[in-house]
Amino acid sequence: MKSMSVKSLQTGSVIGMLGGGQLGRMMAMSAAQLGFHTHIYCPDERNPGEQVTDKLTRKAYDDREALSVFAQSVDVVTYEFENIPVESVRFLEQHVAVYPSADVLEIAQDRLFEKDFLNKNGIATAAYRAVNTVEEAVDAVAEIGLPAVLKTRRFGYDGKGQVIVRKAEDVPAAWDALGNDRIIVEGFVPFRMEISVLAARGQDGEVCCFTPVENQHKNHILDKSIAPARISADLQEAAVDMATTIITALNYVGLLAVEMFVSDDEPQLRVNEIAPRVHNSGHWTIEACATSQFEQHIRAVCGLPLGGVDLYAQAVMTNLIGDDILQYNDLLREAGANVHHYGKSQARPGRKMGHVTRLYPLGQKLPG
Ligand code: AMP
Repeated sequence: MKSMSVKSLQTGSVIGMLGGGQLGRMMAMSAAQLGFHTHIYCPDERNPGEQVTDKLTRKAYDDREALSVFAQSVDVVTYEFENIPVESVRFLEQHVAVYPSADVLEIAQDRLFEKDFLNKNGIATAAYRAVNTVEEAVDAVAEIGLPAVLKTRRFGYDGKGQVIVRKAEDVPAAWDALGNDRIIVEGFVPFRMEISVLAARGQDGEVCCFTPVENQHKNHILDKSIAPARISADLQEAAVDMATTIITALNYVGLLAVEMFVSDDEPQLRVNEIAPRVHNSGHWTIEACATSQFEQHIRAVCGLPLGGVDLYAQAVMTNLIGDDILQYNDLLREAGANVHHYGKSQARPGRKMGHVTRLYPLGQKLPG
């Protein structure tokens, strides 16, 4: 569906990026590959993005004066993580095009808005209720059934901001542990696999999805992504259809990650959450496809045609978390290991330090 007018940026234009983590770093590298400059806006000292960007502004995300100067120095703005104040993005939108839009960000930042949006568009999710008191949480759990998951509506990631409740009497302790009064209670989905679809939509409304990928977690953090996900062709198609419906309904420009549960009961696919940005579960696209998720995002926000997403090989991406980065030298000696180091100097537990992607011929059984 072609729905929007396209403003293609010339090479040499400057892409402004909010956030300077590893995702921003890899986006900046793709931008450079396509002949664009980048200007990263990030409050953090020693961020991974600053090593590879043309320009850096180190200011707070709500510093209107700095945002205004930043807006004047760039041709388009995008972001690499979703916890930027929506008001800052709305402010930037008055001066320069921002993709994805503040309206999209507002939906994606709040689990309630997100689930309401998905259900309104016919996309299945876990059963859910928004609650503001512990009494309401107890009632919601009674209604939805056990086990249930209590989650903060905002700012949750890598399993933070959520507690599984297996017995009704555990609800008050879970409530206290979250220490927040804007909570969503979700039914527990008995999934057999978690997958994601990296979908991209151009300024002209063209949608292009990478093959669904299977995600395995350790300690609530993504450990491995395996592409393609080991599900039937019918389910793969259904997952891509769902992602296409979502990205189109959002009138989105850029790359969107759609995380889904695959279960054996009906409906087999339920969306867990969407991330309005490039995503850890898409790093394998750097080596396994003609266009990476990072390049695809840059193409979309710059008004360029989307690139090819055919899978050239099976891929297994493994995150290097904390001390895993000590494997760096061994990995360099391993033929076929595509090693990525994010340039972070300190390896704290749980910190994403890099990743490694290994490719295998299509159709071959994967090792392990
Ligand atoms: P989230 O922060 O929503 O991405 O959740 C992190 C992880 O917790 C997911 O990847 C799942 O493994 C698990 N999880 C979250 N919500 C549910 C649910 N409603 N049912 C089952 N598992 C869940």
